[in-house]
Amino acid sequence: RVVVVGSFNVDHVWTVATLPRPGETLAGHYRTGPGGKGFNQATAAARAGAKTSFVCALGDDLGGQLAHALAVADDIDLHDLPSHAPTGTAGIYVDHAGRNSIVIGPGANAELSSDFVNQQASTIAVARVVLAQLESPVAAVEAAFAAARTAGVMTVLNPAPADAQAPPSLLLLSDVITPNETEFCAQLGRHTSQQVDAATLAAQDDDTLHALCRRLLPHGTVVITLGAAGCFVSHADIDLHNDARSHYRVAAAPVQPIDTTGAGDAFNGALAASVARRGDAAFADHVHFANRYAGLSTERAGAASAMPHEADLRARFGA
Ligand code: ADP
Repeated sequence: RVVVVGSFNVDHVWTVATLPRPGETLAGHYRTGPGGKGFNQATAAARAGAKTSFVCALGDDLGGQLAHALAVADDIDLHDLPSHAPTGTAGIYVDHAGRNSIVIGPGANAELSSDFVNQQASTIAVARVVLAQLESPVAAVEAAFAAARTAGVMTVLNPAPADAQAPPSLLLLSDVITPNETEFCAQLGRHTSQQVDAATLAAQDDDTLHALCRRLLPHGTVVITLGAAGCFVSHADIDLHNDARSHYRVAAAPVQPIDTTGAGDAFNGALAASVARRGDAAFADHVHFANRYAGLSTERAGAASAMPHEADLRARFGA
C-alpha cells in the first residue's frame, strides 16, 4: 500500500493568446479538473497499480464532492479532514507559447493538521511507502513521516514547490527525496552553504552531483528528476535499496511530449507504487518504471485526469 499525504485542488485553466496584464480583460478557452500535487500523485500511484490511501483536507463544497467521486472512481481510499475553508483551488493561465501564471488558493489544504494525520497512524503503519509534498502544512507531513518511521515504513518526500521550505527535522525523517533541478538547488541553498543554480547543476559531472546530494541528505537517497534527461540517483546505502551502484543516471523514456505539467507528480506516484508492489526489485528498476510512467503522462494534456493506467504503459512500451 502507498499512503499519500497532500493537497487536493480544483484547477481552473484558461488558455489565452497572451497572459493578462493589470486592468486587462481577456477571453480564453476554459477547462476545469482535479489537481493539487497530493491528489495528482495519489492518482498516479493508484493507476500505476498500487493500493492507495490519500490523506487530505477538503471543504464542504462542490470541490470536496468532486474529490470524493474521483477517489471512488480510481479506488483511492480517502481519509479527509472536513474543513470549513473552501476546497483548494488553482487559477491557471497558459499562453500559446506554454508560459503560465498561477494563483493557488490553499483553502482547506492549509488546515491539514498533525492531529488528524496522527489519527491515521494505523493506515500508515500497514503501508510500504508514505509519499508527501510541501503543498501541505509541514507539521502534518512530519507527523506522517514520524508515524512511518516508527512502523518501519519508507518515507518519500517530493520537496515541491521550490519556494517551500523542508526543515531539517523533516529531511531527517525522509528516506528518499525527489526534487527536480530547481527544487534541488533551492533546498541545497537553504540547508548548506552551497549556492548552485539549475543551469550550473546541469553542467556538473556525476561525482560532483553525488557529492552535492550527500551534503543535502547525508543519510538517504536523492533522486533528481531532469525532465527529458531522466533522473540522477544518489544513495547513502546501496544495500538498503538492492542497488549495485551508489550513483547513476536513468534515461527518460522516448516520448513525444505535448504537456509536461504534472510530469513530476506522475513520476512520484509511479515510483512509490513500484516500490510498494515490487519491494524486492532494485531501486534502479523502480526509477526506470517511474520514468516510463511520467514520460507517457507528458503525451497527454491535464493533471490528475491525464495519469496513465498500467495497461496504457504496457500498450505503449511493451512488457
Ligand atoms: P517537474 O514536472 O517536477 O518539473 P521533471 O520535468 O524533472 O519534473 O519531470 C519529471 C519526470 O518526467 C522526468 O524525470 C522524466 O521521467 C519525465 N519527463 C519530463 N519531461 C520529459 C520529456 N520531455 N521527455 C521524457 N520524459 C520526460
